[in-house]
Amino acid sequence: MDLNDSRDEARLRAEARSWLTAKLEGEFAGVRGRGGPGDEHACFEERRAWERLLGAAGWTCLSWPEEYGGRGATLDEQVIFYEEYARAGGPGRVGLVGEGLIGPTIVHYGDDDQRRRFLPPIVRGDELWCQGYSEPDAGSDLANVKTRAELDGDEWVITGQKVWTSLAEWADWCFVLCRTNRDAPKHRGISYLLVPMDQPGIEIRPIRQLTGDAEFYETFFDGARTPVTNVVGQVDDGWKVAMGTLAFERGALTLGQQLTFAGELDRIVEEARTRDVDRELRPRIIDLWARVRIMRYHALRCLPALERGSVTRETSISKLFWATLHRELGELAVDALGPTGVAAAAEPDRGTDDALRRLFLFSRADTIYGGSNEIQRNVIGEQVLALPREPRP
Ligand SMILES: Cc1cc2nc3c(=O)[nH]c(=O)nc-3n(C[C@H](O)[C@H](O)[C@H](O)COP(=O)(O)OP(=O)(O)OC[C@H]3O[C@@H](n4cnc5c(N)ncnc54)[C@H](O)[C@@H]3O)c2cc1C
Repeated sequence: MDLNDSRDEARLRAEARSWLTAKLEGEFAGVRGRGGPGDEHACFEERRAWERLLGAAGWTCLSWPEEYGGRGATLDEQVIFYEEYARAGGPGRVGLVGEGLIGPTIVHYGDDDQRRRFLPPIVRGDELWCQGYSEPDAGSDLANVKTRAELDGDEWVITGQKVWTSLAEWADWCFVLCRTNRDAPKHRGISYLLVPMDQPGIEIRPIRQLTGDAEFYETFFDGARTPVTNVVGQVDDGWKVAMGTLAFERGALTLGQQLTFAGELDRIVEEARTRDVDRELRPRIIDLWARVRIMRYHALRCLPALERGSVTRETSISKLFWATLHRELGELAVDALGPTGVAAAAEPDRGTDDALRRLFLFSRADTIYGGSNEIQRNVIGEQVLALPREPRP
């Protein structure tokens, strides 16, 4: 594999770098490095304006076909942009769920009317989305969803509860897994609905996290409505679409992550240099430095599989690897801070110190969302190593 940029790729890298640097050292300097998991409330309106600027300049939805507002970028080109974005300290993207999850799902499984209606506002950064999958009794066992949707004339009427709905406060739309046929087996009878959030039948309640912030919500549907046409794929066949979305979630978007992690490790090392740190920290720093680099090579190794669309093996290994690594990075951060590191994080902004403690607290979630470590190990054991299946309840 040639790890050097081709001439066109080098041109794209230079273009992205100079655009991002100009904007992030100019009018958007205040959002540099802000937002993202554990910091979503930071400068939200400014980050929304940033999303629109990215859209207007053609830097959103790079992978989408040109006819839907994207650039039809190859995976290599996407990686280049994500790397440059991380290198420039680009803020956490408020449109990530739209660009990374529901957009590709609608491109792949939606119909033409849905593509015309929903894709352009995502490209422009005008409409934000949230994901309504998990329920109190349906997390790892997602097919257990109980939220119901029933037809009433030309509308679906939705009743039930979702939980852990990230960014629901700001979302205009939610993609909701609903049971539409109670007589069908568990993985059938589920439909994938697109539901407007701003309506009387939906109530959201914030859930406070370890960081002290509330970035996800309980979402209650009590007679919420959406037009009958807002089903992606076939009615009762939403499981297939839901799994398609998860494959997009675990796909290219995570490929620039290692640069963000490398930046976090740099900050930890800076902090460690200012203190008389325990000798025990040094091998941990070196170990994580090496693993962050391995993460890059693993991501590059995954590209051909992502291109082919067969990603279970690569993405499960990669999710288990980066989630574990990032949690250890958080533990290293708090140890590098010394005794102050163990103090509670819910204090006013304290600069680097606070960012590192937020890293520690939020990274506890990395091994849970997007498929927990235990689930990834089951997948690797059963589907990659062909070990006997884990007993199912
Ligand atoms: C920060 C964050 C953001 C999230 N955002 C969203 C969102 O926007 N939308 C959304 O729908 N969901 C979201 N989630 C929910 C997330 O997808 C679930 O938390 C995850 O799927 C696990 O489900 P659960 O919490 O119900 O845990 P459970 O499935 O109840 O699991 C509990 C524990 O049991 C283990 N376990 C479960 N089954 C097995 C098994 N078969 N073998 C071995 N161990 C097992 C799990 O690994 C876990 O440790 C988010 C979660 C977090 C932490």
